[in-house]
Amino acid sequence: MLVALTVDVEDPDQPGHGSPDEVATIVAAMDGAGIRATFFIQGRWVAANPDAAAAIGASGHLVGNHSYFHADTRFLTSEGVREDVTRGHKEIETALGVDARPWYRLPYGAGAESPRINRQLRSLGYRHVGWDVDVHDYAMTDASALVPAVEQALAERERAGATHAIVLLHSWPPVTAAAMPELCRFVHERCEGAVTVDQVPDHGAVPTVSPLVGRARNLTRRTSNPSAAHPA
Ligand SMILES: [Zn+2]
Repeated sequence: MLVALTVDVEDPDQPGHGSPDEVATIVAAMDGAGIRATFFIQGRWVAANPDAAAAIGASGHLVGNHSYFHADTRFLTSEGVREDVTRGHKEIETALGVDARPWYRLPYGAGAESPRINRQLRSLGYRHVGWDVDVHDYAMTDASALVPAVEQALAERERAGATHAIVLLHSWPPVTAAAMPELCRFVHERCEGAVTVDQVPDHGAVPTVSPLVGRARNLTRRTSNPSAAHPA
């Protein structure tokens, strides 16, 4: 199993959320283990922590845009989506010197199935990157529980025939930073290797074709090729 560790870096002023030190710990653990990961960074976090953000970019990890406001994109107008995406983009470009396109992660993954939102992301040069494994690191209180949870989720995917897994993690829960050296060791020793989301087939795309579109297509097929329903 090839593993793409992804870290959402967000919420600079949320009470109880870790400081930029947590991010530095995560990056140091990955760098020490020779693991390259993908960081989806919120624009407002970059604005609040430009030096810590620049350090992520300087480490050579793949960087994606995690919006500016970290709002639920489904409730934004088209203009609001554009502002959220482009402000995030500009903050990253200014502080990290990195063009984050085409990698975007919608806050909460909300709107990933929306053709409207996906169309708009595409028009801005982006695509949403989902995930296959979510161990809810944000709700964990015991750092020693993180690696076994990831291991179990990966084993389930392996049994289902998957060759890759995109793992969702967050920068701010203290357990994530605390468990990162152990997680990196696990990926090194027990997995086939670490990759970034650009190396994952389909890049964590979420199916966005509405069932109604499928139905319309089937109707067209049946009408245009009536013999298809009656094979010889
Ligand atoms: Zn997020």
